Amino acid sequence: MENFIRNNYPSAQEGKQVTRKCIQELSTVHGFDLDHTIMATSVCSDEIVRSTTNFREYLGHQNPFALGGLAGYPFVGQTGFKAFASHVPDHGFILILYGSHIGISRNGEVGVMQRRGQMLESSCCGALQASLKSLELGTEPEADADYDYQQWKIETEVHEERDRILKGSIPLVQATEVMFSAIDRRIRELLERTRDDFRGRKVALVGGIIINTDLDLPDWFDLRHFEVLGF
Ligand SMILES: [Zn+2]
Repeated sequence: MENFIRNNYPSAQEGKQVTRKCIQELSTVHGFDLDHTIMATSVCSDEIVRSTTNFREYLGHQNPFALGGLAGYPFVGQTGFKAFASHVPDHGFILILYGSHIGISRNGEVGVMQRRGQMLESSCCGALQASLKSLELGTEPEADADYDYQQWKIETEVHEERDRILKGSIPLVQATEVMFSAIDRRIRELLERTRDDFRGRKVALVGGIIINTDLDLPDWFDLRHFEVLGF
């Protein structure tokens, strides 16, 4: 497991360590008042992603606004971003935590991990793996707007980077990178489209790849973007 993390995510650290560093920098360098900081997350719906970092423990507003859906993509769109902007405390600050995720089991199997109450390991990220499967089988994403819109959108993003993903030595690692870029790009586009709603605010973007491990081991976070935007 550690070899896989070191080889593919050399700058990854335990999630709680990354949290501490980011929080310290936000309060000392960027002047964030943590008691008046609200968080939004764009991470996968998967319950295990929640405990990778512990930002909420440092913030006055402990319950985050959920921007993400399957695989961490910000499915709430423009309306969700506007709603979130209207919830920011007066003279308050904003932290957006986002990213794609990948599982790695104790014995080094990529794309799976053991969950609480289960004896066998299960897929992680399952939505991304299903997309990868459709790519390998060569089946085009099928739009099912009523019952499976999010999966269709993820498959569409993955299919656009077909060559890069399938040529990678571990396709799931590449698919996770592709998804991270797609999430990052869309969050910036949505902030741009709703910038008037964020006027006068400082927005910290904390983006990375979440590495989930078996339930009794700490999760890791490979921080890719840490920046504070002014609107
Ligand atoms: Zn997932």
